[in-house]
Amino acid sequence: MIRPHPRRVLLGALLAGATAASSQASTPGAPKRVVATFTVLADMARNVAGDGAIVESLTRPGAEIHDYDPTPQDVVRAQAADLVLWNGLGLERWFERFFSRVSGVRQAVLTDGIAPIGIGAGPYQNLPNPHAWMSPSVALAYVENIRKALTELDPARAALFAANAASYSERIRAVDATLRERLATIPEERRVLATCEGAFSYLTRDYGLREAYLWPINAEDEGTPRQVRALIDTLRRTRPPAVFCESTVNDRPMRQVAREARTRFGGVLHVDSLTGQDGPAPSYLRLIETNADTILQAFGAGEASR
Ligand SMILES: [Zn+2]
Repeated sequence: MIRPHPRRVLLGALLAGATAASSQASTPGAPKRVVATFTVLADMARNVAGDGAIVESLTRPGAEIHDYDPTPQDVVRAQAADLVLWNGLGLERWFERFFSRVSGVRQAVLTDGIAPIGIGAGPYQNLPNPHAWMSPSVALAYVENIRKALTELDPARAALFAANAASYSERIRAVDATLRERLATIPEERRVLATCEGAFSYLTRDYGLREAYLWPINAEDEGTPRQVRALIDTLRRTRPPAVFCESTVNDRPMRQVAREARTRFGGVLHVDSLTGQDGPAPSYLRLIETNADTILQAFGAGEASR
């Protein structure tokens, strides 16, 4: 019987131990907890995280997010998280004060590196328009920022996050291409997207539309007589077949505009919030597709089929 040299046995055991130790170091631990400020970001983050992190939204579906009033329970939830994701560009006007009550938790701004479009009018004029996610081509930068933040938080799952980000980006690119094709079926002179909030600046810039709105950003003045008159004037000149309003605000002033400008109220668009699972916009990609359906149906252009 040939016995292995004792020193070899020792070396082998040492090597085996070293391998076990290093594979233990790269074995993922329990999934980290991630909190996003609103439903759209939470959905994007879930797509990148897969089962590698537990993601939840601080605000519920349908919540107004610009001037949201965080509860003490929200502070507790953020404090219990490993990472907080927010939009930035002035969207969550409550965030910095809120986050100052949370200590030792990482945060990541998902619009990092995105060139902002300025707000066109009103008290927030020239401040960045925060609704960058509304253009799917810009949303790809959100996905990359989420991947980076999750990877820094949990490096052992880097490969999982990279693979998920790549396949989710593919799906966003597919929606982007379809959206581009479908919006191009609207005759050019009719391509005016009139909405309650000026939340479509990135979408209209990237997809060949012109933008009109009642108020530039959800704030104090929403649907004042002056805003109503100004939009009616614009619509009498540009004559789009329909106007729209967003799910998180009151559509009454826009219905008045539609009557007085002799156009139609074309329906509800989704921007600052997803709907619940049984609503028409339960995910970011469905939000983009549902909006396209609503716009194209109201404009009587293209086919609502995808
Ligand atoms: Zn908004």
